Amino acid sequence: MGKPVNTSDRLLAEIKERSGQEVNACIQCGKCTAGCPMVEAMDLLPRQVMLLLQMGNEKEVAVSRTPWVCASCFTCGARCPRDLDLSSIMEAVRLKVLRPRDAKVLSPGDLSVEMLKELPQQALVSGFRKFSR
Ligand code: SF4
Ligand code: SF4
Repeated sequence: MGKPVNTSDRLLAEIKERSGQEVNACIQCGKCTAGCPMVEAMDLLPRQVMLLLQMGNEKEVAVSRTPWVCASCFTCGARCPRDLDLSSIMEAVRLKVLRPRDAKVLSPGDLSVEMLKELPQQALVSGFRKFSR
């Protein structure tokens, strides 16, 4: 029988799937926070977001303002000694809040042939990018 997967492992696996980043690689050095231009508007520092994710504290991160005020400026990633891209991690958190795992997804088979013919291609591509996994 395999090892049971705990909440923290599940959360970290989901963040990795969406961002490609290993949250557990963070060593809490704080260089991301020291260089972040948005910290004054944040209720959790970028370093704290990493720590809470490592601890599996999804709820505290989900209600935080921090992922929403992150400007995706990549300063933190450039400073991180572990090459972690926090802007992708913040994006993964936003996606997690907006689109839970059991949310409705869209596939081409859900649309009629008429809709596929009539809708602008750009709308179809953006729709599938937004509403599929
Ligand atoms: S990407 Fe976001 S968290 Fe990182 S330094 Fe910029 S604003 Fe701060
Ligand atoms: S700079 Fe990187 S290793 Fe240091 S606290 Fe931030 S995310 Fe963690």
